[in-house]
Amino acid sequence: MLRLTEVKLPLDHHPLALGEAARRRLGVEPTQTRVFRRGIDARRRSAIHSVYTLDVELPDEDAVLARLSADPHVSRTPDTTYRPVARAPARLAHRPVVIGAGPCGLFAALTLAQMGFRPIILERGRVVRQRTADTFALWRRSVLTPESNVQFGEGGAGTFSDGKLWSGIRDPARLGRRVLETFVASGAPEEILVAAKPHIGTFRLVTVVESLRAEIERLGGEYRFGARVVDLCIGSTPDGARRIEGLTLEDGSTLDAPQVVLAPGHSARDLFETLARRGVHLDPKPFSVGVRIEHPQSVIDRARYGSFAGHAALGAADYKLVHHGAGGRSTYSFCMCPGGTVVAATSEPGRVVTNGMSQYSRAERNANAGIVVGVGPADFGEDADSPLAGIAFQRRLESLAFEAGGGTYAAPGQRVGDFLAGRPSTSLGQVVPSYKPGVLPTDLSLCLPQAVLGAIREALPVFGRRIPGFDMADAVMTGVETRTSSPIRITRGEEFQSLNTQGLYPAGEGAGYAGGILSAAVDGMRVAEALALAA
Ligand SMILES: Cc1cc2nc3c(=O)[nH]c(=O)nc-3n(C[C@H](O)[C@H](O)[C@H](O)COP(=O)(O)OP(=O)(O)OC[C@H]3O[C@@H](n4cnc5c(N)ncnc54)[C@H](O)[C@@H]3O)c2cc1C
Repeated sequence: MLRLTEVKLPLDHHPLALGEAARRRLGVEPTQTRVFRRGIDARRRSAIHSVYTLDVELPDEDAVLARLSADPHVSRTPDTTYRPVARAPARLAHRPVVIGAGPCGLFAALTLAQMGFRPIILERGRVVRQRTADTFALWRRSVLTPESNVQFGEGGAGTFSDGKLWSGIRDPARLGRRVLETFVASGAPEEILVAAKPHIGTFRLVTVVESLRAEIERLGGEYRFGARVVDLCIGSTPDGARRIEGLTLEDGSTLDAPQVVLAPGHSARDLFETLARRGVHLDPKPFSVGVRIEHPQSVIDRARYGSFAGHAALGAADYKLVHHGAGGRSTYSFCMCPGGTVVAATSEPGRVVTNGMSQYSRAERNANAGIVVGVGPADFGEDADSPLAGIAFQRRLESLAFEAGGGTYAAPGQRVGDFLAGRPSTSLGQVVPSYKPGVLPTDLSLCLPQAVLGAIREALPVFGRRIPGFDMADAVMTGVETRTSSPIRITRGEEFQSLNTQGLYPAGEGAGYAGGILSAAVDGMRVAEALALAA
């Protein structure tokens, strides 16, 4: 099979145009033409078109490939079949333990289960259906369940999300493809296999997570919910190196665990503190903080697609923005959710955190995105050198946002026009913010550092020149967006193990090795393979 890239066609092309385009490019009639990837090129608003990668079957592929050897857009289709790297020994002394049932932990567990390792998955939160009810209780009734919310529970942080499934990671083993295929086999729409920017939306993710659980259990894995890990037992090897031996759970029970995948996500602050107390090597990691901004989706569609706005092949438009500010700080859009809603994403009482999600249809009235600014130890104030200083900084901002929002889990909000003029908002305008349980118009300078506010103030008019309307007076900003990535790195050394604790495999976003659903899942697979090879 041959792969053709950069096949450009009008948005409204006939389905047969794909085979015809392949025939023209190759000079022979393909016996079969399949879409491998479909994207949109919207760089010029007056000439938006579809761009395909096609896989084609031909009678004499070698000859065609030789004839077109100078064409960089024709190659042999790579073999992406996934092959497990190991099999569990027949007499497994200890089952590996996976902490966290987010995308990283789930794909680590699935990969281990497929190799016969029968992993035990420890998840502090609840099964995904119960977790959905708990999460809705915060959004609808201001009732937070600290162990079951947007951050914690089966499926991890991305369960209530836009479900964007692309990533810029290096992936020579094509594990990302394996993740997408597993999602489809677990109930995700097949479309995600071909879309250049696949996304799956919140409610479909719930079904996927349940199917993954069924598969992991069928293969001998075991889930324990409400199983928060509160301590680690560290011993030593005969040559004096540190090594993990076991875990303590919140109910006081202990577990022998000489091999642990540590995938607790970026909000496991209590566990990070435990790791620091037990001497596991941690490094501080820069991250970003800011606000979530909302515009009418129609404003973004018009700006990005011009007269093509509303075309069925395009859907709701997205954007990606970055501005390198005069003060040396970068301000950028984060986790943009077309046609979505802003969600209450705190996991701790008395704190407010914003984030965004969409359904598969992306049909809500507003577009939202984080507008965030990079911060590091110089911003953290007291104990800036401690690896945990970033967490204290996040907590401070989240508590200030809770107060500024009125102490009810409502988010503090401000119109962009007021923010740019440096005055508090006393009312909202034509953009109705979607954050539940509510938004209190106020002054976002109550809960963000001056340096961050200044960088956003500088960036918004610049963004408004790139996306006309972006700095419209009635766009609404809510705060605070603090959980953009992990504030620490649980640094790995050789073979994916903790730099100073053998048998401990830090993984995913919480460990600082992933930044989204797909990259976390791929990292989980890599770590599982490393663990299996070392077993
Ligand atoms: C609202 C929202 C929207 C997002 N949208 C997107 C998106 O569209 N696309 C995208 O790519 N990414 C998105 N993300 C980011 C994405 O969710 C994360 O990058 C990803 O989930 C990280 O995966 P993970 O498995 O490393 O960690 P997590 O998903 O955070 O999972 C960690 C799990 O560990 C559990 N845990 C924590 N501590 C303990 C403990 N002590 N004991 C036992 N269990 C514990 C937690 O309960 C959790 O289930 C979004 C995040 C949020 C919050």
